[in-house]
Amino acid sequence: MRLNELTIREISEGFKEKKFSSRELTEACLSAIKEKDFEINAFVTVDNEGALESAEDFDKKLSRGEEVSVLGGIPVALKDNFNTKGIKSTCCSPILRDFVPPYDASVVKMLKGNEMVMVGKTNMDEYACGGSTEHSYFGTTKNPFDVSRVAGGSSGGSAAALASSMCIYSFGTDTGGSVRQPASFCGVYGMKVTYGRVSRSGVTAMASSWDTISPFGRSAEDIAYILDAVSGDDYYDSTTPGVEVPDYSEFLNKDVKNLKIGLPKEYFDRGIDKEVSETVKYAVKRLEGMGAKVEKISLPMTKYAVAVYYITMPAELSANLERFDGIRYGKKPEKDSKNLIDYYFQARGEGFGEEIKRRIMMGTYVLSAGYYDAYYKKAQKVRTLIVKDFEKAFEKVDVIMGPVSPIPAFKIGELVDDPLSMYMADALTIPASAAGLPALSCPVGLNSDGLPIGLQIIAPQFKEGLCIQAASALES
Ligand code: GLN
Repeated sequence: MRLNELTIREISEGFKEKKFSSRELTEACLSAIKEKDFEINAFVTVDNEGALESAEDFDKKLSRGEEVSVLGGIPVALKDNFNTKGIKSTCCSPILRDFVPPYDASVVKMLKGNEMVMVGKTNMDEYACGGSTEHSYFGTTKNPFDVSRVAGGSSGGSAAALASSMCIYSFGTDTGGSVRQPASFCGVYGMKVTYGRVSRSGVTAMASSWDTISPFGRSAEDIAYILDAVSGDDYYDSTTPGVEVPDYSEFLNKDVKNLKIGLPKEYFDRGIDKEVSETVKYAVKRLEGMGAKVEKISLPMTKYAVAVYYITMPAELSANLERFDGIRYGKKPEKDSKNLIDYYFQARGEGFGEEIKRRIMMGTYVLSAGYYDAYYKKAQKVRTLIVKDFEKAFEKVDVIMGPVSPIPAFKIGELVDDPLSMYMADALTIPASAAGLPALSCPVGLNSDGLPIGLQIIAPQFKEGLCIQAASALES
């Protein structure tokens, strides 16, 4: 096996036993980028020099016998909505295409405290709005399993970079599915954390009551190590509560005897691809064989989740994007303007892509006087019903399982001109997001075309450990 295909534990042990250095490993990832990324298009910025420098710093530290962290010296890729000091952070939007942030996001600071080696910034749908990475100013990311298909989105670059061994782990953001869905399309693990588990400070907001900073890894074990490093409260994000952070690696290799698994009938309904639902059910059967108890449940509000999301998310998005006006944030318009209002029209007209404009229009519409009660307020009420659906289910079961996506990776161009079908593809990831729950996408097989299929494991708030426990059992 090549160095850049190893897991975090294998690497961390390899470093200690002096089998290879961080420099060698980083070079292996950088050459994979050089070899493959002209085709995959996972990266929008590659930081060769910076990565090699951090790798050498790590190697020196290790050779001096200093204490290093589990993630130390291991190449990571970050979605391009993470602020990285001195390195372009564009959200893959024309309006931010030259933006270089003056500070690091909190999670970047935490990773730097863990001797981070960052190989680059990854491609995404503009402002994280999309499910296919086709809405990027920098072009579409291709699926490493079949380059005629999408890698998923909006964190498609981070998923594809990991799946093609250009890094060892990566980060994205998951607002309505943007880590879980690309993880399932690219055959890697993707963990959407509980809302508030990881600080969002310094990561460009999409929909503030939904956004999470969430990792991709090569195994359930890797996910545990990553969460150990970045979870916890942060002074700069008031939505991170003081809930204790467990040692996630303690959930590895634990048995699943008597773990109660709920299978919601709505997650296996019509509209779910047959191979997807069979593969997922087979994975659940394996857990049953290890002593888990499986029970059919119902989450009746599931059918409203997409509508709730596509009303409240654009409302929050439109408010968050107000600051990108070409004055304080964002590029000046190319054309001259007659007055201030005209300047805003020019800057935002040139600076936002089509999908962003569509969402700003929907968002301002549902927030406007006269429509607020009929749409926004009503959607918020239904969101509460979705939360209650889960609360009720978790009185009976420990975790809930189902597919991540109703379909495997689709063809590039297949849904991009049909926003409604694209939105419907989020039907199984949005419910957990609405309730702020942790959910892990876990690769459990390939379909007859050789495309990966993901199992989704949903747990109660702050119980990421249960997702890791179940995924680790499957992995073994
Ligand atoms: N696909 C969803 C959307 O387009 C999810 C996006 C996300 O989680 N960032 O909004």
